[in-house]
Amino acid sequence: RPFVELTDVSHTYATGATLAVDGLNLKVNEGEFAAVVGPSGCGKSTLMKLATGLQFPQKGAVVVDGREVTAPVKIAGMAFQAPTLLPWRTTLENLMLPLEIVEPHRSRLRRHKAEYVEKAEALLESVGLKDAGSKFPWQLSGGMQQRSSLCRALIHEPKLLMLDEPFGALDAFTREELWCVIRDLHARGNFTVILVTHDLREATFLADRIFCMSSRPGRIIAEREVGFARPRD
Ligand code: ADP
Ligand code: ADP
Repeated sequence: RPFVELTDVSHTYATGATLAVDGLNLKVNEGEFAAVVGPSGCGKSTLMKLATGLQFPQKGAVVVDGREVTAPVKIAGMAFQAPTLLPWRTTLENLMLPLEIVEPHRSRLRRHKAEYVEKAEALLESVGLKDAGSKFPWQLSGGMQQRSSLCRALIHEPKLLMLDEPFGALDAFTREELWCVIRDLHARGNFTVILVTHDLREATFLADRIFCMSSRPGRIIAEREVGFARPRD
């Protein structure tokens, strides 16, 4: 069943001169790992913002999990090209942030704290950051911060994971390690992924389905299923 569906979507930013995307159509099924590739400026980030309710299109429909998107999508987790950890919080405290947002009742948060901490530590361990929980961002390398950001995007078990070039700034070794990590997390988990990248090798390694975008106008011009991406049980 379709989980993210954009139909004939056109969008211009309030400050933009031209259409950022124009007649965009995209359908990603539940549980799928989709990649969106295309040149800089073609509208990939705009697509991300539209699918998560950070922008609303002037034309067309955006439906996520069967509902029209009219507000920021809380079932989404997001990670970006640069790590976005709060510098005054430890890694563990940074990972708690999405939980504080989706569970604003302090008492419930406190009651479940041990469980959340355990979950955070398990996630950190899965990306090779077993001992980073008590460290502050400035005590970690860029790659470690990026891995922490990825964990934070997953901590509240989002049904939709949006990745906007999250591996782009990593060195080649860390990048490929993280590809495997995210692939395993997705294979074991129960969530849909949309990954924006301009690395075709990354897209073919990770995705079940690849969408290619063009600029001027920003829209999907090709779609391919990638059969060999991952053994599925
Ligand atoms: P990428 O996602 O490829 O790293 P960005 O999202 O940073 O690129 O920007 C893509 C394009 O959008 C660039 O040409 C940039 O100048 C333009 N852009 C980004 N933010 C704004 C803004 N607030 N106002 C106008 N143009 C913007
Ligand atoms: P990509 O992520 O593929 O690099 P974007 O979605 O960032 O592309 O940009 C698509 C188009 O929208 C570009 O022409 C860009 O300049 C424009 N754009 C992006 N963000 C803004 C913004 N905040 N304000 C005005 N124009 C923007």
